[in-house]
Formats: sequence, C-alpha cells, structure tokens
Amino acid sequence: MGEAGPPRGAAGVRAVGLDLGGTNIKGVVVEDVPGGAPMVVASASVPTDAARGPDAVGERMVGLGRDLVAAHGPVDGAGIGVPGLFDRDVGTITLFPNLPGPWPGHPLRDQVAKGLGLPVAVINDARAFTLAEGRVGAGRGTHTLVCVTLGTGVGGGIMIDGRLHLGAWGVAGELGHQTVVADGPVCGCGNHGCAEALARADVLAGLAGRATAEEVYRGAAAGDPRCRAAVASVAGYLGIALANTVTLLGPDRIVIGGGIAAAGELVLGPIRAAVRTRVTLVPTDQIAVVPAALGASAGAIGAAVAALDAALPPAPSGR
Ligand SMILES: [Zn+2]
Repeated sequence: MGEAGPPRGAAGVRAVGLDLGGTNIKGVVVEDVPGGAPMVVASASVPTDAARGPDAVGERMVGLGRDLVAAHGPVDGAGIGVPGLFDRDVGTITLFPNLPGPWPGHPLRDQVAKGLGLPVAVINDARAFTLAEGRVGAGRGTHTLVCVTLGTGVGGGIMIDGRLHLGAWGVAGELGHQTVVADGPVCGCGNHGCAEALARADVLAGLAGRATAEEVYRGAAAGDPRCRAAVASVAGYLGIALANTVTLLGPDRIVIGGGIAAAGELVLGPIRAAVRTRVTLVPTDQIAVVPAALGASAGAIGAAVAALDAALPPAPSGR
C-alpha cells in the first residue's frame, strides 16, 4: 500500500496527526525530513459530530486516521491534538471545556491507539499549533518562540531551541490565562481578569455589538468605529499579556494565529505597540510579531510532529 502518496524520503519516518475540534476533526500525514522541516504529504477532514459523545468521536478519529494511513502509510505513530486538558501518564481526558458529553476520564489515547494499532502521543491543541508553526511555519529558525492562537479561547505555547517548553507539569504556555486586570471578569479557568476573559472571540463580538468575531474584523477593516474600538481593546489586553511574556522569556519571534489572523495589521499593529511601550528591558525592535503561516491544519501538523518527536531519538542539545 502507499502508492497513492509521494515516495517516502530517505528517513522514511511518517506520522499521522489528528486534531480534534468542536466542528471538524482534521488529519494529516507528515514525513520527517532530515535536516529540514517536516513535510505534509496528505490532509483530510471529517465532521466531529460532537453531540454523539466521546466513544463516537473517538471512533471518527480512528476512521480518519485509518483512511489516511491506508492511502499514505505506513506510519510509525500517531499524534492527537485535543481541545483541553488530559492526564499525560495514562492519556485520559480531564477537561474539554467546549465539547459536550462525559469526556472526563475517557481513555482517548488508548481508544485511538487500539483502533489504529499505533503508538499515540497526546498534545493540547494550542501547543500543537505552536509546535507546527515552530517547526514548519512562521516560527521556524527561532531561538525562543512565543505563539498565541486567538479564537473561542486564547491559547498559547512556548518553544525554546526548537523544542516545546511544557514545564514540570506538562501545562506551561497558557499565555491566555495570565491575569491582566486584577479584578476583571471571571474566566473559564476560575480566575478573574485573564487575558482570555477579556480577549476571546465572543467578548470581542459583544464589545462591537456583532454576532461573530469575523464580523468585527470585517467591520474594523471597513472603518466602523465601534468595531475598531473593540479590536483595539482586545489587542491592548493581548499586548499586556505578551509584554509580560516578552519580559519573562525574551523571545525573538511572536506568532499570532487563529481567527484573528483575518484582522492582520489591525490587530498586529496595536499588539506590537503595546509590547514596545510596556517592555523596557528586552530589545523589542528586534522581536518580530508575525501572523501564523499554516492556517487551519496547524493543529493536526503539530500533533503529527509530536508523534515524530516521540518516535525519534531526542535531538542533540545545543544548536
Ligand atoms: Zn483563565
């Protein structure tokens, strides 16, 4: 099998990545390229049908993975990007804030591993986005990379020397849950005044009196003053969170993705300005703030890269 895909490279190591979203499950097959960026050789998508619950959603992931492996395999492993928190030791879900059904305790890693007959790596979707942009997309070649994805929530991730930084507990990089207003609105995480509570898509839409964030971006681009003010508010809070992050980590690049990419300079400009105004101890004129490059496939690509990382021996330290 495998005739349908491009010829396997010299390394011959491929992985399938599956990104579990609220609306669609996206899948890719990625091949390791020695000395270069991992290469996407195939991609596909199926509806999540989230209302059918964890068992059915897991089976849809398995089905998509099987189809991709049948056409573009063999692969050495699989990665799954998940929209929430999981137990990294046993691969069960602990919290999916935006998917219906009894997810806590669901053994998603084992379900997919059994269904595909492959080792499976689990990664949070925002960290998968970060890993993809850092290895394949707009963050390639950086020393210290900060990624932010703005949408339903505000996700993030950190890469240092080409490796994802997850901290001692596997959860580092939640840039959106930094407090930016001491007594601000309550956040989904339970804290008050997180950047996410002030900058997520529904808050942006509410500020501008529009139904969706996309409408706000379009309105702002067309010069609507209320939409422009709403974008400026969100960009200002994101700028505070990013200024704190820049002071702490000293990144050489910040990649911004998610729905906000549609707003382009309307939002990147104020974020750059906030970082430059608030950060005095890091040379901010040398920090590039750029839009993400990989679009909606980033999470699936990052999940596949996580699987490649898990299957391959660790890279030598140093650069
Ligand atoms: Zn929070």
